[in-house]
Amino acid sequence: MIVALLASPISAETVPVFPRHPPLLLAGLAAVLGESGHRVVVCDAFLERLGVEAAARKAIAPSPDLVVLMPNDVARETPPDVTAALAGRIRELADVPVVVAGIGDVRFLSRLLDSCPALDAALVGDPEISVPAYIRACGQSAPRGGEPRGGRSRFASGAAGGAAANAPVPPAPLHAGSCPAAERKSEQAGSSAHSGVPGLLLGGSPAPVRPAVVRDLDSLPEPAWDLVDLRRYVVLPHRGGRASHPILASRGCWWSRCAFCQDLACVKSPDYRVRSPQSVAREMAGAVREKGAEHFLFHDAVFPTRKEWVEELEGRLSDLGVRASWFCMARADAVKPDVLAAMKRCGATGVAYGLESGSEEMLRRMNKGHDLAAGEAAVRWTKEAGLDAVATFIFGFPGETVEMARQTVEHSLRLPLDIAQFLLVKWHQVPEGMLSEGDLVEDWDLSQFDYRGMVFVPRAYRTVGNLKLMRSYAYARFYLRPAFLARTLARVRSAEELRRYVRGGMTLISAMLNR
Ligand code: SF4
Repeated sequence: MIVALLASPISAETVPVFPRHPPLLLAGLAAVLGESGHRVVVCDAFLERLGVEAAARKAIAPSPDLVVLMPNDVARETPPDVTAALAGRIRELADVPVVVAGIGDVRFLSRLLDSCPALDAALVGDPEISVPAYIRACGQSAPRGGEPRGGRSRFASGAAGGAAANAPVPPAPLHAGSCPAAERKSEQAGSSAHSGVPGLLLGGSPAPVRPAVVRDLDSLPEPAWDLVDLRRYVVLPHRGGRASHPILASRGCWWSRCAFCQDLACVKSPDYRVRSPQSVAREMAGAVREKGAEHFLFHDAVFPTRKEWVEELEGRLSDLGVRASWFCMARADAVKPDVLAAMKRCGATGVAYGLESGSEEMLRRMNKGHDLAAGEAAVRWTKEAGLDAVATFIFGFPGETVEMARQTVEHSLRLPLDIAQFLLVKWHQVPEGMLSEGDLVEDWDLSQFDYRGMVFVPRAYRTVGNLKLMRSYAYARFYLRPAFLARTLARVRSAEELRRYVRGGMTLISAMLNR
């Protein structure tokens, strides 16, 4: 079977916004389907700067038997109207089933299906088990033309126009009617003959569909990076100016209660699962050997900050002769000095924490689960361990006052941070009871570094312009401190590093200008 995997564009027309991170979920699904013997064609329409029309044509170009839209992946999300338009255009161009996968939010997907008759189904949760099960339900579990083909070792990249494919298999037609999708207009999810497909959502009234969950992450093959040109993704200065090889050590978040956290990609499900250090070390060793990776970025919502786990990873990497650096994100209340010291020994260069606010009241409203002191201690311990400390702060949570926002800026200045990111809270749906506290700007805010939803303007700000002004003020206060600039310049050791800081400065100016 030919499966087209499409990382969606983030807008209907081309916009001057580029992805910072490669599509990790898509590469993982491509690997699973390749191992199952399917021919997989992938395209990152966001990277290729394709609008809906061009992306739809790209999706159908290999005459696929199934098109899987992946609107959300690590650090990228697509407005639902763009996904709906894309599915609609694909179905106008070809008689091929179109499903959406890689999203963990049932309510979001129910609304999307209801608004988009062209979408045959949504596969909620981890796509690595839902999509193959869906294909089996279509009766197409093996490719036609003899023995199963494909597999990780047979992947070859470089098809024209940014699409890449594994080993070719003769195309064969599969019409929408041969998939469970054909029943979606008449059945409720969970009651069809295809209810064995985990996470299958067929539209209609929201049904109690549980997202598909891969319990044993070690059972998954390594992502099919052969199909993605990792060098083409934007490198941010705080990653050492080097391309970061993307990797996951876990999925989900054991806290999962922050009120602003609406990341739709199933990487942030409430089911927290951790890979074995052995499996992570093996993947890192492979990336070093085959892709020349030197630095890794763990995309985990919350990195497994258990000392034994980190020490075992260090041992496994040492056994495999891997010397590589890495960066991760963690919760401030989940690190201790001994864990951070172990992370440093294991190759970590820095840790990012979502500190969110400088107001205790705001942290409580956000249900962050820790206080200011926990954030301060985490940053201090991180620096004491010899690691870079990075923090993100957010503006625009319902109920925020200008005074609270100023407290956030002052808080960021007191901490010994190397990098601070100031973001606007972005929403797919503002929680009930909060909408009365301001205005929702319903068009998605697509700016280069923060393009993942709608902006909510708390009453105190009055306009979205004032809210963005607060973000610019925060960036200016943090980065234009003479002491900070002097410290940063003192770290410059080479012309390349200087170039990196210049690029970082331009990134900063872009953020300050709210682009
Ligand atoms: S800790 Fe991070 S991933 Fe977990 S709920 Fe909060 S914001 Fe989301």
